[in-house]
Amino acid sequence: MTQVHQSQIKWCGLCRHLSGEFATAARLYSEAVALLAAIAPNRPPQEYNRLRHAAEEAKRRSELAGLAFEQHLESHHRTAAIAAAATA
Ligand SMILES: [Zn+2]
Repeated sequence: MTQVHQSQIKWCGLCRHLSGEFATAARLYSEAVALLAAIAPNRPPQEYNRLRHAAEEAKRRSELAGLAFEQHLESHHRTAAIAAAATA
């Protein structure tokens, strides 16, 4: 089994871009949920539904951004493992 050390993995420009996108998407999701949770009980159901859909959409975007970041990090791990195997 090939050991992949953290020192072999460097953050590239895409890492920083994707982590920033993920952080932003997660923050927008959090804000959308905060808006939904703070809705006054006397508001019409249409308004609640609109906010709920916005929160659902923000959640989906956050999940996709997290997945893209995760998959990119995995590609670094694979590349590092291949490089480690080649020099072993
Ligand atoms: Zn990267």
